[in-house]
Amino acid sequence: PYVVTENCIACKYMDCVEVCPVECFYEGENMLVIHPDQCIDCGICERECPAAAIRPDTEAGLHAWLDLNRHYSGIW
Ligand code: SF4
Repeated sequence: PYVVTENCIACKYMDCVEVCPVECFYEGENMLVIHPDQCIDCGICERECPAAAIRPDTEAGLHAWLDLNRHYSGIW
């Protein structure tokens, strides 16, 4: 899946939410998150994010962010 990371904090844009075909964005405490089991890996949101906050989970060093996305999506 794709993962929302640090640059989303304090970002006011919602372009990602509007383009996601499966509506898998959720609100965390101070940022948006992506539900990792609902994301279909289309990559559209990554291109739309003006803060470059959205990255594929295959990128190194994103484990903690993936956990946080999972948590605020309501999985645990
Ligand atoms: Fe939604 Fe596609 Fe982004 Fe996943 S990669 S969150 S399915 S827009």
